Amino acid sequence: MSNRLVWAEEEIQSLSDNGLYNHIRTISSPQGAWLIVDGKKVLNFCSNNYLGLANHPKMVAAVKKVVDEYGVGPGAVRSIAGTMDVHLELESRLAQFKGVEACISFQSGFTANLATIPCLVGKEDGILSDELNHASIIDGCRLSGATIIRFSHANVKDLETKIIENKDKYRRLLAITDGVFSMDGDLAPLDKIYEVTSKYEVMLMVDDAHGEGVVGKGGRGIVDHFGLHGKVDIEVGTMSKAFGVMGGMVAGNAKLIEWIRQRGRPFIFSSALTPADVAACLMAVDLLEESTELVDQLWENGNYFKAEMKKLGFDTGLSQTPITPVMLGDAKLAKDFSKELFNEGVFAMALAFPTVPVGKARIRVMISATHTKEDLDLCLQAFERVGKKLNVI
Ligand SMILES: *Cc1c(COP(=O)(O)O)cnc(C)c1O
Repeated sequence: MSNRLVWAEEEIQSLSDNGLYNHIRTISSPQGAWLIVDGKKVLNFCSNNYLGLANHPKMVAAVKKVVDEYGVGPGAVRSIAGTMDVHLELESRLAQFKGVEACISFQSGFTANLATIPCLVGKEDGILSDELNHASIIDGCRLSGATIIRFSHANVKDLETKIIENKDKYRRLLAITDGVFSMDGDLAPLDKIYEVTSKYEVMLMVDDAHGEGVVGKGGRGIVDHFGLHGKVDIEVGTMSKAFGVMGGMVAGNAKLIEWIRQRGRPFIFSSALTPADVAACLMAVDLLEESTELVDQLWENGNYFKAEMKKLGFDTGLSQTPITPVMLGDAKLAKDFSKELFNEGVFAMALAFPTVPVGKARIRVMISATHTKEDLDLCLQAFERVGKKLNVI
């Protein structure tokens, strides 16, 4: 290795030395309740494929059909020659589904945040950001050049204090929160947040990546859950989680969406979603509008799993959604627990610092509508055996 690149080896070594090196496993099967992981068949509790749409036969059929008609690539960025009629169809269907004036799609939830936040605020403005907001929100905030003011997690009182402190210092203020926080599975108190932001005429944005297709009526998201239609100014979401595909969306006021269409940099400078992605997302909207069966099954599975885990004596933290953290505290214990589970044929991630605070390490169990009761019981039995072996219960 040339001298000028030695630093990379040293950085990686330092990650290893500090227990921060991420060994990434390889999946060689479609997404579903069971996966082939590093050659081993295991029960999957790691994916965001909440509704099982990632390998749903109707989704696969929709993609095959559109590829025959439209080919595989968009050929350009949206603003030059990459906007196909299917993109516009998806955007209008999403707007209808979410009950908003307009919607714009992006390559991912990550790029949706990078596009949106710098369109809403700039150097003369301030952003009030929940301290646990997702990395893509943080990066979008940094790109905007606005001053970032963090408020304590889900703490409306702290938010109000910080609004009062800052409201006369900036041209505009924007409050941003995740809808569902993916490490704990808790919900932002969006109704209370809205009360405060509307009182001071502060713009309000929610990133509902883990709520889209999960919370609200038939998976219509956190704004629907709290009945805040027309009140939250802008909703960012993803189609890579419950929708089972890929892509971001931004929904809200028609003028704001038009502004993002004119100025959102990932829209103007990065190619469009492929026709296959778009067709699959359209089918996801069809399936969600057709029936609430998958969303209902997801919640039934989540509620069953959490109740049984509590009976076994596990602490499932603050979860208000099917995301189930199993609180263990110690980082090494969480890592060992995850390894033992994997040996038992259960794939569930250990999360530790810096992903979650020091001393709050956990296993995060991602429940899906695709899990059968038998699958959930196998998982519970594995948790019981490992929990006893490692003296957790
Ligand atoms: C997952 C996630 C994203 C990123 O979505 P992608 O479509 O995977 O890029 C953005 N925001 C939040 C809150 C997320 O949880």
